[in-house]
Amino acid sequence: MSSQHVQRMSRLMAKTLREDPADAETLSHRLLVRAGYVRRSSAGVWTWLPLGKKVLDNVSRIVREEMDAIGAQEVLLPGLLPKEPYEVSGRWSEYGDLLFRLKDRKGADYLLGPTHEEIFTLVVKDQCTSYKDLPVMLYQIQTKYRDEARPRSGVLRGREFQMKDSYSFDVSDEGLAESYALHRAAYQRIFERLGLDHRIVSAVSGAMGGSASEEFLAPAPAGEDTFVDCPSCDYAANTEAVTFALAPVDAEHPAIEEVDTPDTPTIETLAAHLGVPASATLKNLLVKVDGEITAVGVPGDREVDLGKLGEHLAPAVVELVTAEDFTDRPDLVRGYVGPQGLGKVRYLADPRVAPGTSWVTGANRADTHARNVVCGRDFEVDQYLDVVVVEPGDPCPRCGAGLRLDRAIEIGHIFQLGRKYADAFGLDVLGREGKPVRVTMGSYGIGVSRAVAALAEQTADERGLAWPAAVAPADVHVVAAGKAVPLALAERAAEALAGAGLRVLLDDRPGLSPGVKLTDAELIGVPWILVAGRRSADEVVELQHRATGTREELPLADALARLT
Ligand code: ATP
Ligand code: MG
Ligand code: MG
Ligand code: MG
Repeated sequence: MSSQHVQRMSRLMAKTLREDPADAETLSHRLLVRAGYVRRSSAGVWTWLPLGKKVLDNVSRIVREEMDAIGAQEVLLPGLLPKEPYEVSGRWSEYGDLLFRLKDRKGADYLLGPTHEEIFTLVVKDQCTSYKDLPVMLYQIQTKYRDEARPRSGVLRGREFQMKDSYSFDVSDEGLAESYALHRAAYQRIFERLGLDHRIVSAVSGAMGGSASEEFLAPAPAGEDTFVDCPSCDYAANTEAVTFALAPVDAEHPAIEEVDTPDTPTIETLAAHLGVPASATLKNLLVKVDGEITAVGVPGDREVDLGKLGEHLAPAVVELVTAEDFTDRPDLVRGYVGPQGLGKVRYLADPRVAPGTSWVTGANRADTHARNVVCGRDFEVDQYLDVVVVEPGDPCPRCGAGLRLDRAIEIGHIFQLGRKYADAFGLDVLGREGKPVRVTMGSYGIGVSRAVAALAEQTADERGLAWPAAVAPADVHVVAAGKAVPLALAERAAEALAGAGLRVLLDDRPGLSPGVKLTDAELIGVPWILVAGRRSADEVVELQHRATGTREELPLADALARLT
C-alpha cells in the first residue's frame, strides 16, 4: 500500500451536530446530517461534504471495478437531454410530473435525465452497425433527476441523486440472458463488497409472460418497499410480483386490451358525480363500463387535470364505481404489475376522492386507456390507498408455506427490456446473413447515493454511524485525548499508520475535551478508533472497534501491528 496523508480534524470541514435535524425521519438522515456528511440544499437535493464525498466515492469505486470486471465500458452521457427521444418512447408524457422539464433560450424543450434508455439506444444506433459490434454493455455513474412526490428520508430518496445505470445490447435472446446474468452476478459482488445485507427478489411474475426483472433490496425498517420471502424455499418477491402470483389471471376474463377513448366517461359525468368543478385536479379514477369495473384515465399515475382528462373522454354509458362494488370483492385490494407494452397501471385515491366514492384509472401511454382491467387482477394498488396488498402468512406460490413480510430499501434493479426501445428507435444491426437484425436490450441500475444511506441504516447504532471498512471515510480515527504528551503520541501513531498505507483521521482539534472528541468519533463511525490519553507517557493507547464496541488498552507498537 502506498503511504497516505493524515486528514487532520482541525482542518476538516465537518461540523458535527448534537441535535437531530428537525425534519429527519430516518436514522440515516439524522446521522448523516449530524456527523457532517451531507447538508440539505433544497427538498431532496443534497450537498456532499468531505466525509460524505469519500464514502460516496468508495461506493462508486467498487461499483466501477465490478462493472469493468464484466466487460462493461464506462461512458458519460449528458444529464441535460432534448425532449424528442423521450417523445419517441412516450416517456415525455408517461413520466408526467416526475420529469424536471426546462426550455432553452430559443424555447426548445429539454429535460433533466431521470434514466437514460432512450439516449443509450441512440448512442448504440450511431456506433454499432454490425452484429460484430455486439454484444456491448455500457454504463455510467451519473446524477439523475426525478421530481419525486415525497422526497424525504434524506439521500435515500433524492430529487437529485447518483445512479449507476448500465445497458446491454445483444442480437439474440440468449445473448440478453447472458448479459443479464453477468449483471446479476456483478451486483451480488458489489453489494457483498459494500457490506450491504441484501435480498434478490423477483419484480415481475413469470406467469405474466413479461421479461425478467429482479430487484436488489436491503432489508431495513426505514425502507419504503415491502417484500415477501418464504421460510421453506428460496422464493422471494416484491409485493407486486407475489400478489400477481397469488391472484393469477382469470382465464374467463379477456386480457387487458388497449382501447380508444370513446368507451370512457365524459368529463361532465365524472365531475358531476364527484361533486367537483370540471376544472378540478384529481388523481386517476376507476369507473364501470358495461357493468364491469374498468380502468380509464390519462397517462401516468399522478394528478390529472379534469379538463385535460375530458379531452380524452367522449360520451359513453358509464357508471361510477362505488364502495358497494368493493364489498364482495376482496380481490380488489390486491396489487399487480402491468404487462409489458401497456405499462404500469396505477390505482390511486385522491384525498378528496376518499375510498368509497369513485375511482377511474388510466394506462400510462398517451391516448390509450385500459379496459377489462380488474383492480387486483390487473393493476397494482398504490400506497396512497390504505389497503393491504399481501399479508404475512399468505401462501408461498411455490411451496405453500406461510410467507414472511419485511420492509426494505430498493438498492438495485435489473431488467430485461427486450426490444421495446430498439423498436421505438429502429435499432438494427446487420446480421450474420446480411439482413438487419433488431437489437434486444437490458437495463440495470444501482442507487449509488441511496446505497450510502442504506448502509447507514443497516450499520448505525444509537451512538452514530459504523461503516463497513470498504466504504468508511477512513480506516482509523486517531484521537488525541489530551494536550502535549497525548497529542504527540497521537501524531506519531497517525503518521505511522498513514505511512503503512492506512487512511487516517486525526482528531488534533485544540480546546475540546476527550469526551467531546470520543463522542464525535463514535458519531463519525470510522471502523477503528485509537485513543492516546492518560497513559500516553507509557506509550499505551486504547483501541476501540466501532461496530462491536470492544475496547482494549495496549502498547502503541502492538496497536500499530494489529492495524497494519
Ligand atoms: P423507487 O421504487 O425507490 O422509486 P425506482 O424503482 O423508481 O426506485 P429505478 O428506476 O429502478 O428506481 O432506478 C434504479 C435505482 O436507482 C433504484 O433501484 C434505486 O436504488 C435508485 N433510485 C431510484 N430513485 C431514487 C431516488 N429518488 N433517490 C435515490 N436513489 C434512487
Ligand atoms: Mg421511483
Ligand atoms: Mg421501485
Ligand atoms: Mg426500480
